[in-house]
Amino acid sequence: MEDLLSVSFGELFLKGKNRNKFFKAAIDNIKRNIDNIGYEDMYLESSKLYIKADKNNFDNLIKEIKKVFGIIYISEIKRCDKNKESIENALKEILDNMDIKNKTFKVITNRVDKSFEIKSPEFSQMMGGFILKNYAKDNNLKVDVHNPDFKVFIDIKKYAYVYANRHEGIGGLPIGSSGNGLLLLSGGIDSPVAGFMMAKRGMKIDCLHFHSYPFTSKRALQKALDLGKILSQYTGKMRIYSVNMAEIYKSINRNCRRNQTTILSRRFMMRIGEKISAKNNYNALITGESLGQVASQTVESMAVIEDATNLPIFKPLVALDKTEIIDRALFIGSYEKSIEPFDDCCSIFAPSNPITKPKLKYIKESESKLNIEELENNAIENMEIFDI
Ligand code: ATP
Ligand code: MG
Repeated sequence: MEDLLSVSFGELFLKGKNRNKFFKAAIDNIKRNIDNIGYEDMYLESSKLYIKADKNNFDNLIKEIKKVFGIIYISEIKRCDKNKESIENALKEILDNMDIKNKTFKVITNRVDKSFEIKSPEFSQMMGGFILKNYAKDNNLKVDVHNPDFKVFIDIKKYAYVYANRHEGIGGLPIGSSGNGLLLLSGGIDSPVAGFMMAKRGMKIDCLHFHSYPFTSKRALQKALDLGKILSQYTGKMRIYSVNMAEIYKSINRNCRRNQTTILSRRFMMRIGEKISAKNNYNALITGESLGQVASQTVESMAVIEDATNLPIFKPLVALDKTEIIDRALFIGSYEKSIEPFDDCCSIFAPSNPITKPKLKYIKESESKLNIEELENNAIENMEIFDI
């Protein structure tokens, strides 16, 4: 008998023509997350992944596997030969180590290997009887097929897999199943959360970061890279484009009214994002905007910012409160990094009295004084690319 972990995937994995691609992506992400913990072996058997590893590492392994989208359950299982006696021994080992006092249970058999001679309902009954005979009296244990306190699963495949301990996965859709998104990643709390949420819906995420060196320090970029690294535990491999906005800010400052700076610079960000997307096949931009949070996040400002691009802009935080966003950042593990001090490219040039209800007409007038094409093309030509 051996202790293994098994990983169950969500529905999307099980059907459709991209099934193998999704499996491969999910398994790559699992491997990537658990490589430094270590495991002996992993294999797929009828759409579940089985991982053989040192039992002492199970808690750590489960914690890391939980970061992969598209997983619904992770189970701690006993693998044994598929005969009655071995399965009964596995059941004993499991129940001897569980708190079953005054509880109700149900046995669920899933006979994948039809050459196993006893049918599933019959075998469930048999094993339920075995459990009652050995444990009912001492523990006041009862069967409840409708609403049991715990379930005992027996999967009959090449081996028998027996388990009662299921951990919920993070859910979501496998990465790569919902197109490619370009996340505008600042150094703040919000944008990493926004990226996480879209990745959870299956978007493959890369990041675009703006800095304004030498007006801001190099640390701002390092912070964005660190945040990207934290996100990549969930998203898998990612690319980070780092674009210097210094010349753009200078030009805005020289030619336009200062209270328009934020809106004008955000429109530059969208256009640059769109240009990078056109060359690299991103289907949408993603931002961490939340309605009403700051001056540039009024509905009027959002409309003027969105006007700068034809790409859809996904704003998964738009209706979340700051406290809800912080809770998510804590869950993701990005919060501590996000609150480290740094100079945001925008805060340096931020007006003290930004407009909250910009008019597109006046913004476009200001833009007509700028050499937009040249500024953008220069910024893109000089951008740095980091692969994480
Ligand atoms: P965050 O916490 O993500 O920085 P925020 O609350 O500070 O967001 P803003 O500064 O108004 O809000 O930025 C709104 C969104 O615009 C950000 O969530 C991010 O997606 C994008 N953004 C802002 N600054 C940058 C930057 N320097 N680089 C890349 N994207 C940025
Ligand atoms: Mg910010």
